[in-house]
Amino acid sequence: MALLDIQQRIAVAEEKAGRPAGSVELIAVSKVQPNERVAEVLRQGHRMFGENRVQEAAGKWPDFRVEFADVQVHLIGPLQTNKVNQALELFDAIHTVDREKLAKKLADAVQKRGACPELFIQVNTGEEPQKAGVVPTEVDAFVKTCRETYGLPIAGLMVIPPVDEEPSLHFALLRKMAERNGLAGLSMGMSSDFERAIALGATHVRVGSAIFGERVASVNK
Ligand SMILES: *Cc1c(COP(=O)(O)O)cnc(C)c1O
Repeated sequence: MALLDIQQRIAVAEEKAGRPAGSVELIAVSKVQPNERVAEVLRQGHRMFGENRVQEAAGKWPDFRVEFADVQVHLIGPLQTNKVNQALELFDAIHTVDREKLAKKLADAVQKRGACPELFIQVNTGEEPQKAGVVPTEVDAFVKTCRETYGLPIAGLMVIPPVDEEPSLHFALLRKMAERNGLAGLSMGMSSDFERAIALGATHVRVGSAIFGERVASVNK
C-alpha cells in the first residue's frame, strides 16, 4: 500500500534526523487524481490533502467532507485575488501567499469571516521567472508586511525547488529564511525528495504521485 509505505519512510526519515515521531505532516496531493483513488486513501484513514486549483477542489472536497468531516485540505497552487473568498470556504491552509495584493485581500476576507487558515509564504528560491513566489531578498520585508500591515499570522514558508537543481540547497535556504523570521513551518519536499526535506527540517511534505500513482492527465504540473 503506497500510503503506508510513505508513512513508514517519513517515520524513518524523522528518526534519522533525530526529530520526534509525528513531527512531519503528510499532505497527500490529490490534484488530477480520480475520485476513487482519493476515496481509497480517505478510507485508509488519511485526512490531510493538497490541491493546486481552487476550481478542482471545489468540485471534489465539499462532497468528501460530508462523509469525512475531519478532513483538511491545503491549497498548494497559485491563488488569484478574485478567488480568495471561495478559497477560504474550501481550504484549511494556503501555502502560496506571495504578493501584497493577495495578503491584503486575505486580510480583509479573514476579518469578515473571523477565522484564518494556516498561511505559508511561497518563496521562489531559484528566482525562476516563470515561477510564483517571493524572491529571497524580499522575504523578510514581505513577512513583516503580512504580519504588521495586514495582521496575518504566518505559519511558515513554502518552496518548490527548480527541477534541475539539488533540492537540498533550496531546502536549507528556506530553513535559514524561516529561522531568521521566527517561523516554525516549512512546507517542502515532494515525491522525489521528501526524505531530504525532512532531514533539513520540513514540517509539511507534499507527496502526490508516490501515494496515488502517476497523474493521468497532465493539465496540472
Ligand atoms: C503536484 C505538486 C506536488 C506533488 O508532486 P509529486 O511529485 O507528485 O509528489 C507537491 N507540491 C506542489 C506545489 C505541487 O503542485
